[in-house]
Amino acid sequence: RTVYVNGEYLPEERATISIFDRGFLFADGVYEVTSVLDGKLIDFAGHAKRLERSLGELEISAPCSVDDLLEIHRRLVAENDITDGLVYLQITRGAADRDFAYPTDATPTLVLFTQSKPGLADSPAARTGIKVISIEDQRWGRRDIKTVQLLYPSMGKMMAKAAGADDAWMVEDGAVTEGTSNNAYIVKGNTIVTRQLGTEILHGITRAAVLRFAREAQMRVEERPFTIDEAKAADEAFITSASSFVMPVVEMDGAPIGTGKPGAVATRLREIYLEESRKAAV
Ligand code: PLP
Repeated sequence: RTVYVNGEYLPEERATISIFDRGFLFADGVYEVTSVLDGKLIDFAGHAKRLERSLGELEISAPCSVDDLLEIHRRLVAENDITDGLVYLQITRGAADRDFAYPTDATPTLVLFTQSKPGLADSPAARTGIKVISIEDQRWGRRDIKTVQLLYPSMGKMMAKAAGADDAWMVEDGAVTEGTSNNAYIVKGNTIVTRQLGTEILHGITRAAVLRFAREAQMRVEERPFTIDEAKAADEAFITSASSFVMPVVEMDGAPIGTGKPGAVATRLREIYLEESRKAAV
């Protein structure tokens, strides 16, 4: 596999960064994951825009232009022969002598690599739906910044696995925030409910697109907090993310949601999302 590190395309075995990199020492960095379908990038512009915002919030300077980033994405997709898969991008503040205060002279570290995922858009899980458990949200308070600080979500994923489930929905002050690596939705009657944007959740790129498509299809959308009890009593539930698109959720804490099968709204939104985002892919 060819990877990209600070201006160079290298075989992955030869790619290195400093042990003083603040991404390594402080999780002082941000990332993006963009999916690839049929060799094209899904919503690259959305990811680039959120990346700029994350960098701005942490006062990390952009290592290159958005056009350069697009070029790097495309070259890696081509060199690694990615038909369906993901491009992972990470920018950290860079290497500096260890100190909590941000260094003034560090050069940001830019790393990209690809992951091949044949059949990404027709995963069996989309036909059966996934199972989730509820756990307490114990992350920090700036979840709107897409930092590489992902230990609690990893713990949540392990808790889900231990419980025989696929993922965990996190709960704070009685309301669901989001999944470990996705945004969370329920459907009651003909209304889609998902938490409103704020510092408590990541502003999903897939979320923005899916809510736009839902509204264009005359579906009712309410952006507000909802509880686990509401989720358990919902007709349907689903998640969205760049790597899962729209994925039905059919079980919560061991009890079926609705019929226990993927619902009509989630299924339709998945179809619309895949069709529209494929059309707009670059
Ligand atoms: N919420 C969290 C915590 C995430 O980590 C992710 C994606 O990694 C999402 C939501 C979904 O965001 P997107 O649709 O931009 O992939």
